[in-house]
Amino acid sequence: MRIFTASLGTESNTFAPTATCLDDFREMVFLRPGEHPDDAPRMCTATLWAARRRAARDGFTLVEGSCFAASPGGRTNRQDYEFMRDEILAQLRAAMRVDAVLFGLHGAMVAFGYDDVEGDLLERARAIVGEDCIIAVEYDPHCHLTRKRVALSDIVVMYKEYPHTDTVERADDLIDILLATWRKQVRPVMAVYDCRQIAATPTTDPQMRRFVDWAKSLERHPILSVSIGHSYPYGDMPELGARILVVADSDPVAAARVATEIGEAFVALRGRIGHRYHDVDAAIDAALAREGAPIVITDPADNAGGGAPSDNTTILRRLIARGIGDAAVGPIWDPMAVRNCFAAGLGARFALRFGGKTGIASGVPIDATVDVIGLARDGVQTYGPSRSFLGDMAGIRVGGVEVVLNAARSQALGSELFTNVGIAPRGKKLLVLKSSNHFMAGYGSFIAGVVHAHSDGLLRRDDFRLIPYTQVARPIWPLDEETSPGLLEIS
Ligand SMILES: [Zn+2]
Repeated sequence: MRIFTASLGTESNTFAPTATCLDDFREMVFLRPGEHPDDAPRMCTATLWAARRRAARDGFTLVEGSCFAASPGGRTNRQDYEFMRDEILAQLRAAMRVDAVLFGLHGAMVAFGYDDVEGDLLERARAIVGEDCIIAVEYDPHCHLTRKRVALSDIVVMYKEYPHTDTVERADDLIDILLATWRKQVRPVMAVYDCRQIAATPTTDPQMRRFVDWAKSLERHPILSVSIGHSYPYGDMPELGARILVVADSDPVAAARVATEIGEAFVALRGRIGHRYHDVDAAIDAALAREGAPIVITDPADNAGGGAPSDNTTILRRLIARGIGDAAVGPIWDPMAVRNCFAAGLGARFALRFGGKTGIASGVPIDATVDVIGLARDGVQTYGPSRSFLGDMAGIRVGGVEVVLNAARSQALGSELFTNVGIAPRGKKLLVLKSSNHFMAGYGSFIAGVVHAHSDGLLRRDDFRLIPYTQVARPIWPLDEETSPGLLEIS
């Protein structure tokens, strides 16, 4: 048996004042055949990583294609998308004949000229391999699960956890079903329930935890896999929204029944899951009043993981203005400031302008006398089983606050964000993290509490009705009160 695998992914915020190009992929994941390191999977590459481990044991030949992934940001450059797509398709053509294609995709990528990038890739891949070849895809639950993609795929599995700590387990699930299909032990059929809702639903929330565990308990014969697509609120496209996908063995009625059961339960959770947000000063007050340390203040409105620039200065500005010390903030994306810090050198005290550059939602830059307290080239942070990249980094002290500046835009995931530049996050009273919930994978074990702030950054987390959608199909909750959730026709 021959399996071809490749990865392509980013999460495209169609409201972002940035665009994504090959340089952004080079900063994160840009690996040609055979180049993927063995230490850990990267963003969207758990499929390749898991398949490489299983090939000998499970008796298949793995043909590795390229892996491309970039941090969430604005739409991808059209020519750059076509370059990556065509490289993968040329590798697939050269690998023929293959019995299966295994894709690691994010699922919320938009390029200029392509609203449904993954649908385009799958359509062209299917045209190469034909109807008999098995196409199996792993997605992030923040994907747009379009009908076109489902129709073009045989097996779809999404990560279940948010933070996404189970990318390898889900890749193994996908490969299990793929192999059983090839051995004719199962015949996968899929059903999709459209919840007609936009929501942010971290699995660290107790209700969401119970919901995911319950949905997972339904994975017993004839149900092979259940996936909960949360929705990605910042990719304005017609099929944006939460969707439940169920894979069953030869039993479309059971697939539809279970998808409906999970979908109706997810709809019933509307408005009951999600964080409570404070304005910036109230968040600082609440965090200072909490017992223990460190207390995390999140800045989800400026979360690079949702495609925001990660250079909004509002929370930091308030910490400085209020004279609050014993705090650390990160990461603020500012390649120019990082370069200036490297030029000034470790221990230098100098006047630096940083942050507040990318767009209106970045606020204004901070001009301050800073001390350079740490410098690191090519910073890496841990994210569950995976590695993520921060680029060159500088740690600075401004007033009593220590700040991490980085050159490769990324959200706060692992505590190496701070330790790379000599800042000890465990010793601080306040940690301001530009992240919504993924940081919990790296910080959850040692922090004393979390307060969610709502700054004037790009992303509305508090009320999706305030996002200026023009493309999403209506009605959809919470933009509309009356909606009609139900099973989707997949042809
Ligand atoms: Zn995600």
